[in-house]
Amino acid sequence: MTLPGQAVLRIDLGAVAANWRDLRDRHGAPVAGVVKADGYGLGAAAVARALREAGCGTFFVAHLSEGLALRQALGAGAAVAVLNGFPPGADGGAGLLPVLNHLGDIAAHAAAAAGAARPAILHLDTGMSRLGLDAREQALLAEEPARLRGLDLRFVMTHLACGDEPAHPLNARQRDRFTAAAARIAPGVPRSLANSSGIFLGADFRSDLARPGCAIYGINPVPGRPNPMRQVARVEAEVLQLRDVPAGDTVGYGASWTAPGPRRIATVAAGYADGYLRALSGRSLGMLHGRAVPLVGRVSMDLTTFDVTDVPQARPGNRLLLIGGEGNTPDDIAARCGTIGYEVMTALGRRYARSYEGA
Ligand SMILES: *Cc1c(COP(=O)(O)O)cnc(C)c1O
Repeated sequence: MTLPGQAVLRIDLGAVAANWRDLRDRHGAPVAGVVKADGYGLGAAAVARALREAGCGTFFVAHLSEGLALRQALGAGAAVAVLNGFPPGADGGAGLLPVLNHLGDIAAHAAAAAGAARPAILHLDTGMSRLGLDAREQALLAEEPARLRGLDLRFVMTHLACGDEPAHPLNARQRDRFTAAAARIAPGVPRSLANSSGIFLGADFRSDLARPGCAIYGINPVPGRPNPMRQVARVEAEVLQLRDVPAGDTVGYGASWTAPGPRRIATVAAGYADGYLRALSGRSLGMLHGRAVPLVGRVSMDLTTFDVTDVPQARPGNRLLLIGGEGNTPDDIAARCGTIGYEVMTALGRRYARSYEGA
């Protein structure tokens, strides 16, 4: 239910499922669903259910808390992997798959395996230098494979640092390091390589399980080229008031914008607390009655102001499209304030009425 004045986050689950199927077909091999950070801000439970309907059987989250919540939402059956890992038993029997990121993780989970082998995913760092076994640990493990005893490795994985830059030499270097290390350390174990952008690097980057996130949610996995994915998210906020501002008056905090002539200003009920980033102040636009309207003045916590002088039909109670639509996608919004669509989406706040459509 949407309360009066509440902003609405519309999520097209039909587009989520269509994007996932499209990625699976392009990959030509199995594809997981990455639903960390609450499904990139759109609701991990709803997104994961839609993906499951579409045929997705493996999900990745970042934090243990996210894995536990997802297990509740999906029930038994789906594989739920936790990228940041967790200590043995910390999932309380929820059957989550730990991603083992260093030798200490391996030792702990192997030691806890009493009898039945413990399912897990092994993460090899091939150039990200963030999580995963580094080169020294990989060499040790290749020499002492007994360290893996007691573990049932479902996948061996690595993560590309520059998948969205097809010409970057690190892509091939990471792939080659991964192929060599996986063969030495985990022969015969299925491999997981590409994220969204990696799928678009072509057959050389195919593996037994791709791990797309952003492209499922409509973020462009091939920056600089036309976005092949369907848009998923729209944000609408209500016009609370309209006012006529005379020439020379200013709007908002810091008096950062001065009306160059008589202007009609719409104040809408969403701001940076809703993830409409303050850095967009004076450099974004919304859509009202099908027309682009410029954001004027500063974005404040709960309110944002737009110049709707050219939209005579504007009325209080109208919904202004803050994010979404042609030329105003999360990627477009991000480009205006020096960030990426991922951050725009994961910043979306908790005050929205989330409306799931097209399921
Ligand atoms: C976030 C993440 C992904 C998904 O990346 P996208 O660029 O959103 O497709 C895949 N693998 C790992 C390890 C990640 O952290």
